[in-house]
Amino acid sequence: MLARAKLKTGLELKVLAQQHEIIQDVSRSIRSLRSRELVGARDFADASETNYQQGLELQLAEIRSREAQRLETTIQAIETEQYGICRKCQAEIPVKRLEAMPSATLCTSCQTEEEETAS
Ligand SMILES: [Zn+2]
Repeated sequence: MLARAKLKTGLELKVLAQQHEIIQDVSRSIRSLRSRELVGARDFADASETNYQQGLELQLAEIRSREAQRLETTIQAIETEQYGICRKCQAEIPVKRLEAMPSATLCTSCQTEEEETAS
């Protein structure tokens, strides 16, 4: 149980780091969009510039919330489902395995067994 809690924290941190990256990506693309736009639009009135900025911010907020929702779903799956439990033998899947493959549903030995019977 302790290991799973640790894994969850690890995944949550990963998710946060991912979120941070996404936000950086988005603001970077907005910055380049803005500078490109400003080169050709130096005479634009302040009002339209403000509108433009608001539009971009709205877009950014939309992307953020969509992404946050997706990441939230991942964390919820970890909390509510039988996450980290082998679906065949009900043993806890080693944390190292889950870290390498967060979507794993079989422990290492059941996975090996499955692969052997499949081939
Ligand atoms: Zn198993």
